[in-house]
Amino acid sequence: MSGLRASPAAPQQLLNARLPAWLLGDAWPRHEGAPALARVQIEGGRVVSVVPMDAAPCTAPAWDVGGTLLLPAFVDAHVHLDKAFTLSRITGVQPGLLGAIEASSRDVPTWTPEDIRTRATRGLQWAHECGTTRLRTHVNWSEIGPLPMAWPVLAELSRQWGGRVLLELVSLTKLISFADAANARTVAAQVKATGPHALLGGFVHSSNWDRPSLAHLLDAAAAQDLDVDLHTDEELNPEAHGLLAVAELSRAMGFAGRIVCGHVCALAAMPESQALAVLDAVARAPITLVSLPITNLLLQDAVTGRTPRQRGITLVKEARARGIPLLFASDNVQDPFCPVGSFDPLEAFAAGVLAAQLDAPFDRWSDTLCRHDFLARGRPGPASLAGQPADLLLFPDADATGFPSRTARRVVLRAGVADSAPPAAWLAPATA
Ligand SMILES: [Zn+2]
Repeated sequence: MSGLRASPAAPQQLLNARLPAWLLGDAWPRHEGAPALARVQIEGGRVVSVVPMDAAPCTAPAWDVGGTLLLPAFVDAHVHLDKAFTLSRITGVQPGLLGAIEASSRDVPTWTPEDIRTRATRGLQWAHECGTTRLRTHVNWSEIGPLPMAWPVLAELSRQWGGRVLLELVSLTKLISFADAANARTVAAQVKATGPHALLGGFVHSSNWDRPSLAHLLDAAAAQDLDVDLHTDEELNPEAHGLLAVAELSRAMGFAGRIVCGHVCALAAMPESQALAVLDAVARAPITLVSLPITNLLLQDAVTGRTPRQRGITLVKEARARGIPLLFASDNVQDPFCPVGSFDPLEAFAAGVLAAQLDAPFDRWSDTLCRHDFLARGRPGPASLAGQPADLLLFPDADATGFPSRTARRVVLRAGVADSAPPAAWLAPATA
């Protein structure tokens, strides 16, 4: 090595970085089963190349990160900024999803734009600090006609945070409200008028199931060229068939946008062959699935005084085996739906690793936090770091075996510039 010192803030090369196997492709060399360490070249705020480490001299300021784990910046695909941090002022929350909905609805009349802005800004700040660059929030939209109070507040925050966190807004309306197709068209037009980072959504649950309403929602989205993101089958009712209906209807109408279905817990309660048939339909659609392990563990099979027996997590392994794009996300944070949380998607990931018994979490599953393209239109291509913005996360205390343990400390690069001082050892002049 040439021993060139890097600027503390903006390395042009990262030496000996440990990237996950999913990001490297089958041809990448391995040593004792693990991917070989990488040299990551950064220019103009972008990653220009990723190659296996070799003995070639450094020709640019570099950090020698000595095997530190590296991931692309996070996408947190499903949160609720409008409700976040409300739990401290709400009492009498009954267990389960419907109990949380009731408790939250009692708090809504106390909301003001300033209250919403303060709470949502805290959530955005926490997301930004942990290394998330894309955040998708659902926003309760219970009435047809007026904009919900939180919507313009969050739209303004989306503009203010542009360049730091891409904040997307999804309307969240009970499906049955779209029994009248005109209602779906009204909301879709309002969502469209918000701008390119807004999507049409809905709450698809057996308590308000209505297939024509779902068709109206998809028709309205298609007419406005909107993508769709649905709370789908967040229950352990094997009769819930919202996900299958979304797959069937969207395919039949040739829906051109990206569809995301979150939760889809009911798959875990269905007979195996039925659940797998639904997933086959999802793979053909195509639909991105978002799993929310923390709230599913908390809200499914929830009865006061009784230990839950079921996990509520959806069939993530079977979905991946079919090539279905899959993300883990945070969902609710410190509101009646979930008392804990910090807008760090690694918390949800850690819950998912245990609840779904995921093997090799860093090498095989950490893509579920990083694949921003799973929210974009079209079939996702192979994962690649080269050519992408140098928005990178380094975990100085973690290792691939124990990941995601000891990931609290992280060095975040934003367009190639570090937001904190790197460990001194990374800057020490390397020896030849
Ligand atoms: Zn949600």
